[in-house]
Amino acid sequence: MKKGLWISLGIAILCVVAVLVFLLQPSGQVSSFQKWQYQPSKKPAAASALTVKFFGASTLLFNDGKTQILMDGFFSRPSLRQVLFSKIQSQPEVIQQMIQQQKLQRTQAIFVTHSHYDHALDIAELGRQLPHSTIVGSKSSLNIARGGQVSEQQLLQVQPFQPLNFGAFKVTAIPSRHTPATAVNNDLGEEILQPLKQPARFSEFKEGHSFDYLIEHQGYKVLVKASTGAVPEQLKNLKVDTLFLGIAQLSRQSEEFQQNYLDQTLRALKPKVVVPIHWDNFFSPVDQPLAFLPYLADNTEQSLNILLQAAEQQNTRLVLLSQPVSYPLDPALQSDSGR
Ligand SMILES: [Zn+2]
Repeated sequence: MKKGLWISLGIAILCVVAVLVFLLQPSGQVSSFQKWQYQPSKKPAAASALTVKFFGASTLLFNDGKTQILMDGFFSRPSLRQVLFSKIQSQPEVIQQMIQQQKLQRTQAIFVTHSHYDHALDIAELGRQLPHSTIVGSKSSLNIARGGQVSEQQLLQVQPFQPLNFGAFKVTAIPSRHTPATAVNNDLGEEILQPLKQPARFSEFKEGHSFDYLIEHQGYKVLVKASTGAVPEQLKNLKVDTLFLGIAQLSRQSEEFQQNYLDQTLRALKPKVVVPIHWDNFFSPVDQPLAFLPYLADNTEQSLNILLQAAEQQNTRLVLLSQPVSYPLDPALQSDSGR
């Protein structure tokens, strides 16, 4: 009898371990989507061409050769263990290296989509190391910057529908919605009311409201939507050339939610190109190749397939950016792209 109990217990523990190991596996392989992966052109784009680089999650660098603007600031990417069991903080040496390697010195503005750490962990350190940049975000995002002693002159609270100009870029914030809350980020609408000093627990990075950003550049229109959520009808009168669309946890939502999300975004905006974002495992360092989120967080292969199907139905081209290389936004310069 006793022996039987031990065997049962042993089997139960093995099952739990097996499930945990499975949940931490990447939910598919980037290489399965090679057909849609952007392959950098052998001949570099003209220095004046409008390009974008994707650094995972929703950190995107737009560059027109003169001015750079950054969407979100997340390069330090602490591991899952650090996030769950300790306080987290921006890594000044990682930021310094990024600024040098990626030549971020011309960054005039950092626009923050919301204040969760996977969007805003590094905005204070970026602000400090790029003292000529302006940080644009919610009260909560500005309090993350204040916690890192960023000069008050560099901070600008986001004003919905009020365009801001930086060089030839015109950027407009549009109130948006976060991905539906889960047990670990059940703080939607909550704000960071005091300057947030790092290191801090990940849960101290309260959402503080979410924003999409419309970027206009010499007649070219781009929308960056970081989270898998939309305010109904918010984008119905807008058309864009390229849509950067957050798909984190899309596969985990109901069929109704998925179709509604695509109606409010992809189908309303009718972009020529859609670039999925926030699909990568953001617990791995920025110098590693991007990999899909673990099953614990999403089924990325399924999320991508849902988007792919909707994009193909309306002849929108899907482009998967899987490394931080300059992707030219002008279709004429994309001759070497995947398809
Ligand atoms: Zn978030």
